[in-house]
Amino acid sequence: MPELPEVETVRRGLAERVIGDRIESVWLSGKPQTFKSPPREIARTLEGARITAVRRMGKHIIIDLADGLAGANLSLGPASRGRATARRSAATRNSQSETRNSRKTKAVTAHTQWIVHLGMTGALQVTRSEAELLKHTHAILQLASGREIRFIDPRRFGRMWVTSGFETAGIEPLHAGLDEFTVLFRGRKTPIKSALLNQKLLRGLGNIYADESLFRAGIRPRRQAGSLKREELRRLYQSIQQVLKEAIAAGGSSVSDYFDVEGEPGLFQTHHRVYGRGGEPCLVCGTSIKRIVVAGRGTHYCPKCQK
Ligand SMILES: [Zn+2]
Repeated sequence: MPELPEVETVRRGLAERVIGDRIESVWLSGKPQTFKSPPREIARTLEGARITAVRRMGKHIIIDLADGLAGANLSLGPASRGRATARRSAATRNSQSETRNSRKTKAVTAHTQWIVHLGMTGALQVTRSEAELLKHTHAILQLASGREIRFIDPRRFGRMWVTSGFETAGIEPLHAGLDEFTVLFRGRKTPIKSALLNQKLLRGLGNIYADESLFRAGIRPRRQAGSLKREELRRLYQSIQQVLKEAIAAGGSSVSDYFDVEGEPGLFQTHHRVYGRGGEPCLVCGTSIKRIVVAGRGTHYCPKCQK
C-alpha cells in the first residue's frame, strides 16, 4: 500500500508535469466504489479546470483547481469536438459574465479541489494520449498539453472525489516538531506500532515505514506507546524523519503494485532493514528477524536490537 514516501513521489511527479495545464475532457469508468463524489459531478467539476497546485496531506493527493479560462489564453478546439466544445463555449460565456458581474462567484471555483487516495493498488500516471491503455484504468483526464492523467487501480480501494477546503486529522511527520510528536503518545495504552499506524495521530505512516522506523529507534513494536521515555520518543522522531526522507529520495518502495507517474517502480525496498525480512539475519547483529502480528498487520523486528 502506498505510504507517505510513495504518495509524495507521485505528488512531485504530477506537480512537475501538470501544474498550469488545463483539463479538456474527462472519462470515468462505471465502477462505483472508486468515486466518492458522483462521477458526473467529478467530470463536470474537472472539465475546463486549470491545475494550479498539487499538494499532499498524509496519503491524500490534493489537486487545486481554478477556472480554466480565467487568465488563460483561450484556445477552443475545432467544432468537430462537439460536446466538449459546446461545454467550453458555455463556460466562456459564464466566465465572461462573471467577470463583469461578480468576483465572488469566481472565488468559489478557486477553492475547488480534486482529491485522490491511492488505496492499496491505485496509481496516477501522466502519459501521452497515444500510450497504451492499461487494464483497470478508471479515469482519464485529457489535458490541453496533449498529455493525459490516468488513474489505474486493479483492487479498487483507491478513491477520488471533488470538494473544497479538504482537511484530515493528524499531524504531518515531516513538518511536526519534537514536542508536537511526543504529546501524541502521552497516556496511550496501545502498542507503539498501532499508534504509528493511526492516521488520526500521524499522517501517512503505514506498515513498512512504521517497522523500519521502530528498528532504527531500537524500540519493539509491541511496547505500550505511553510507556516510551522522552529519549526513546526523540530517537523514534528522528528515525521516522530519516526513513521517510531516504525513502522519498529513492522514489518510495515498490513491494507490490506501486509505480510512480511514469510507471517506474521505487527503489527503497532494497534498503528495508526489517520489513519483509522475517527469518533473515539482522543486518546489525545477525539475529533472526521476527515476524509477529500487531494491529492485524505483519510486523517485523529484531529481538536483540529492539527493546
Ligand atoms: Zn539486530
